[in-house]
Amino acid sequence: MKKILVVEDEEDILNLVKIILEINNYDVIVAHDGYQGLEQIKENPDLIILDIMMPGMTGWEFLDKIRQDGFDIPVIVLTANAQMSTLETAIDKKVDDCIVKPFDREDLMEKVSTILNKN
Ligand SMILES: [Mg+2]
Repeated sequence: MKKILVVEDEEDILNLVKIILEINNYDVIVAHDGYQGLEQIKENPDLIILDIMMPGMTGWEFLDKIRQDGFDIPVIVLTANAQMSTLETAIDKKVDDCIVKPFDREDLMEKVSTILNKN
């Protein structure tokens, strides 16, 4: 079973993403912020779904940190901010895909399975 780490500070969204993934037979581990995410990454997830706007450590800071630490795990960015600057940063940082909140469940599952089936 493929394992997915979801890093998201909003409890409702975190739970929603977790339930959708679990219904689709993925093993899900969660983190409420970037610091917990850095702990959970030791569980070797196959994919990370990452919120950008989080207190303490932003999603971009988390991403920079894990790449510096040598983790080459695919990342889908989950963002409420669909502005050009966010999308440009996503391209710049070579994330695998972006999902804009409020997200569509089918869109989420399609992006997740596309990335995981590549590996
Ligand atoms: Mg957030």
